[in-house]
Amino acid sequence: MTWLDPLRAALDAAPTPCPVFFRDDDAGWGDAELLALLDVFDRHGVPVDVAVIPAALHPRLVTELRRPSGTRLRLHQHGSTHDNHELTGRKHEFGPSRDHAAQAADIERGRELLQQAFGAACEPIFTPPWNRCTPVTVDVLVEQGFAVLSRDSTAGRFDRPYLAEIQVGVDWFGHRQGVRWSRAELAERLAAGVSEGGPLGVMLHHAVTDACELAMVDELVGLVARHPGAAPTTIHALASA
Ligand SMILES: [Zn+2]
Repeated sequence: MTWLDPLRAALDAAPTPCPVFFRDDDAGWGDAELLALLDVFDRHGVPVDVAVIPAALHPRLVTELRRPSGTRLRLHQHGSTHDNHELTGRKHEFGPSRDHAAQAADIERGRELLQQAFGAACEPIFTPPWNRCTPVTVDVLVEQGFAVLSRDSTAGRFDRPYLAEIQVGVDWFGHRQGVRWSRAELAERLAAGVSEGGPLGVMLHHAVTDACELAMVDELVGLVARHPGAAPTTIHALASA
């Protein structure tokens, strides 16, 4: 018996391999934790989509992320500075108080920083901080040549031409009314994502992942790597399918 038994059972029952992808947010914060998480994916040979905060990049991190390794590391843009610009209500970097010009300038600045750092290795995918943005953001993303928007499945969809939406369904640190899901609930949600036919997208936050959490992530990634009912994939591959 392990905490992942519900997911294992769902994978056993999957009629065809279920696509599974991992999105880790906030590269630029917590470098040691990021590198420890990337080691886990490297060890299991599973790809990971890393959402990078452009303004938080620094030369040492750029060098680490550009270093060739076995990691199937995918990089994309996570906002620009990851600041909240709303005076009231929920946090947004690209929220209702920001007009087209303000959003366009920030997204372009971030895009340029990532281009300088990683060139074509940075994919035209945008994950907004807090998984929140507005229809104005979508206009800007299309104008600037982004191909994919990634938010969480509770955010709904914009359903606009020229912009695929690949959503994460399970937040590793998900909570209800401020109380974090138990390990059993997390396993049930992972299993449900597979039972519903997938793709199963798991959102991680390395900067708040301690050694105990990392050991659990290791177990999950290991199961996804080994189980024939799981097909590890990436946001780019799903959007291109
Ligand atoms: Zn973030």
